[in-house]
Amino acid sequence: MSKYDYLVVGSGLFGAVFAQKAYQKGNKVLVIDKRRHIAGNVYTEKIEGINVHKYGAHIFHTNNKEVWEYINQFAEFNRFTNSPVANYKGELYSLPFNMYTFNKMWGVANPEEAQKEIEKQRSEIKHKPQNLEEQAISLVGRDIYEKLIKGYTEKQWGRECRELPAFIIKRLPVRFTFDNNYFNALYQGIPVGGYTKMVLNMLEGIEVRLGIDYLEQKEEYNTLADKIIYTGAIDAYFNYALGCLQYRSVRFETEVLEQSNYQGNAAVNYTDCETPWTRIIEHKWFEFGKDEFGFEVPKTIISKEYSSEWKLGDEPYYPVNDEKNSLLYSKYKKMAEDEEKVIFGGRLGEYKYYDMDQVIAKALELCRKIL
Ligand code: FAD
Repeated sequence: MSKYDYLVVGSGLFGAVFAQKAYQKGNKVLVIDKRRHIAGNVYTEKIEGINVHKYGAHIFHTNNKEVWEYINQFAEFNRFTNSPVANYKGELYSLPFNMYTFNKMWGVANPEEAQKEIEKQRSEIKHKPQNLEEQAISLVGRDIYEKLIKGYTEKQWGRECRELPAFIIKRLPVRFTFDNNYFNALYQGIPVGGYTKMVLNMLEGIEVRLGIDYLEQKEEYNTLADKIIYTGAIDAYFNYALGCLQYRSVRFETEVLEQSNYQGNAAVNYTDCETPWTRIIEHKWFEFGKDEFGFEVPKTIISKEYSSEWKLGDEPYYPVNDEKNSLLYSKYKKMAEDEEKVIFGGRLGEYKYYDMDQVIAKALELCRKIL
């Protein structure tokens, strides 16, 4: 008989939800993670009284009531609403594109004038768009494309918009209202005290071992449990037998600044081509500039985000779900189905970009199926 019913590889949200539910149902559960901390990519670290989002800004948003009620058992959420700002060569615009944006761009004062201007500019493209540039202009016109889309997109993809396929942008949300709430979600916020504290609450009572790479001690750990929930990279599990799945990566440069307010907003996107970073995150504004006791935090911490090519050994961030990689993934998926003892889950196990609420929903679905 194995010592544990479940070995959960990875203490990110997928692993934490599964472990919590399995433990609650009376199973013996062991969680391991190769990192020296829990919480996977939602990990936050408290520095100078500020919860720093170490793997990129994470804003919880969902329309799924079940997920919202589930996650609220482990954290109280504040009323943070994501309203990013775009900085184009020092001109500031409200995002997503809305009446504040159009007023700043063209001086228009009502929705009819804004619609007329966009229609006029869209008509520049008369044929079926052949690339991302033409697609964007055909949706929102040249001014918005040049100032708010072109530079940002080119930095993100590391290629010119004219060389990128049109299908990358299917729609561009355009609002003819003064509404800059980025996510159209019923529920939204940041867990008070940070995501790490939330995941710690989820894992209460469960044995967790950190700094352990499952793939390096697979045989040994496999004997410990009846079933394994694996949330690491699927290609790594098979030792890249069929080749590497590709990702886009992000590099963060984080600085503590001796001033209380750097940019007055949690997220500012740099939409010109010349600025090398895509965004600056000022972490304190996720919690309104206050520490856990409600006092104003005197310093500030910013992270500049640089989009980068991914190579083996880098932190994988965004799966590249193009034809080539999707095909490769489907082959690995077939191999995974033959692994009787192991269930693959989460963003790396399924090679899929999931928002936090989606990954929680997927883990809850698995729990319903097998627990
Ligand atoms: P992870 O969090 O990656 O957890 C996997 C864990 O497995 C890691 O801790 C890893 O160390 C461990 N592991 C891997 N291999 C092994 C091994 N061999 N042995 C032991 N342990 C291993 N979602 C939102 O809803 N809102 C946002 O604002 C948002 N912002 C994002 C910003 C960025 C830059 C990125 C990349 C993602 C963002 N997301 C956001 C998505 C969110 O990060 C994911 O939904 C979530 O982290 C997925 O959880 P997971 O458990 O699947 O994966």
